[in-house]
Amino acid sequence: MIHIQSFTFNPFYENTYLLYDDSSECIIIDPGCSNASENLEISTFIVDNKLKPVHLINTHCHIDHILGNKYISTRYQLKLTAHKKETQVLDFGTQTAMMYQIPYDPSPPIEIFIDEGDIVKFGHSALNVLFTPGHSPASISLLNKESKILISGDVLFQGSIGRTDLPGGNFETLTRVIRSKFFTLTDDIVVYPGHGDSTTVGIEKRTNPFFVD
Ligand SMILES: [Zn+2]
Repeated sequence: MIHIQSFTFNPFYENTYLLYDDSSECIIIDPGCSNASENLEISTFIVDNKLKPVHLINTHCHIDHILGNKYISTRYQLKLTAHKKETQVLDFGTQTAMMYQIPYDPSPPIEIFIDEGDIVKFGHSALNVLFTPGHSPASISLLNKESKILISGDVLFQGSIGRTDLPGGNFETLTRVIRSKFFTLTDDIVVYPGHGDSTTVGIEKRTNPFFVD
């Protein structure tokens, strides 16, 4: 059974997820921690629960999802895992941070590449990697059917979908991906998005205005 802890960090209200099971191992997805108090918040949770971080993963490399990459990778000696084709987005981070005038300690490069069909393991648990582009050129989502967890990045939100006007975004691709890869899952899968509250596949299939006529 996977436990999930969410944190909402940085001026973009980005959701950072920490997944762990009954082993001591955990993984950190999209660390958006962007200052000393946010860094302390996630580190304190890790200490208090006696966890050992074993993977640092980005669903995609937009600035709000990578602000804590440097801190987490340094503190826990982790290489960054993401899709290879997010490299260009990651490399744009410094420029984007300057545009928004937010402090950014540059992320390490992506060193471990993941793609559709790969499996990310930690403790006694495993997550299936789904390739889910459309919001960003090479977003990935992470699924565990037993624990009914879908980490959707900025692909699908409660009552909405990710924006498609940023470089590499595409509305047709995004809605096709959601239909073919998310809405084919069972209704009780809980969707944990990159922003806002969690929802379920069933609720979004029935009520999301982008898919309901
Ligand atoms: Zn994004």
